[in-house]
Amino acid sequence: MSARPYYIAGNWKMHKTRPEAAELARALAAALKGGKHRYLAAPGFTLIETVASIVKGTNIRLGAQNCAPEEQGAHTGEVSVLQLKDLGVDTIILGHSERRHVYKEDDALINKKVKLALAHGFEVILCVGELLEERESGRAEAVCETQTVKGLEGVAASDLGRVVIAYEPVWAIGTGKTATPEDADAIHAYIRKVVGRLYGEGAAEKILIQYGGSVKPENAAQLMAKENIDGALVGGAALKADSFVPIAMFS
Ligand code: PEP
Repeated sequence: MSARPYYIAGNWKMHKTRPEAAELARALAAALKGGKHRYLAAPGFTLIETVASIVKGTNIRLGAQNCAPEEQGAHTGEVSVLQLKDLGVDTIILGHSERRHVYKEDDALINKKVKLALAHGFEVILCVGELLEERESGRAEAVCETQTVKGLEGVAASDLGRVVIAYEPVWAIGTGKTATPEDADAIHAYIRKVVGRLYGEGAAEKILIQYGGSVKPENAAQLMAKENIDGALVGGAALKADSFVPIAMFS
C-alpha cells in the first residue's frame, strides 16, 4: 500500500440539467461526508455554478471538463480559465479521450491547456490512454508515454504536485470493458516510471494516477488494491449517487 491518498473523480460529461445536477450534488455531499478519500465532481459548464453552491465547504472538489488554450479573447464557443476560476473551479480535466479523438485535440494543444491551467493555479487531471488497435499492436505503453511526456512538456517540477494523471484506455471508456487490475497496474507503473525519468523518483512516488474505463461498484476495490492505482476517473457510474457513492466509499 502506498502513502498516496485515493482520489475518486466523477466526470458527468454532457449530462444533466441544473435541477438534476443539483439533486446529484446534494446526494453526493450528504453521502460522502466523512468519506476518507479525495473526491471531485466535474459537471458540464452550464451546471458548474449550481454544483459549486452545493459542494462549497464540503469534501468534494469542483471540476471542469475542459478549458480554452487562451486566457481570453475572440474564441467563440470556448470557456476560459478566468471564467472557471470565477465559478470556484478547483480542477480541470484535460486531454480526455473524447477531446482527443472526437474533437481532435492533439498533444500540443493539450499541453498548452495544461500549462495555462497550472499557471492559473488549477489542479489538472491529464488523461492519457491507448486505442484498442494500439493496445493490440503492442503500443499501449508507447502511446501513454508520448501523451504523458508531451502533455507535461514545459511543466515545472514545482507545479507537478497539482497534476494528476488519469490512465483511461479508450477501449474501456463507456464500453463496459474494464482493463484487468493487473493490466491497468502495469501501465500505471510504466507511467510512473516515465514521470520518474522526467522529474525524479520522489515526484514519481508522489504523483496520483487514476484509472478510468468502466469503473463500477463491482470492480472498484479490486482496481484500487493495486499498488500503482491511486483512484478512479468515473464516467457513466458517476451520473447516479447509487453507483458513484459505493465507488467513492470503497475500502
Ligand atoms: C470517462 O469518461 O472518463 C470514463 C472513464 O467513462 P466510463 O466510466 O463511463 O467508462
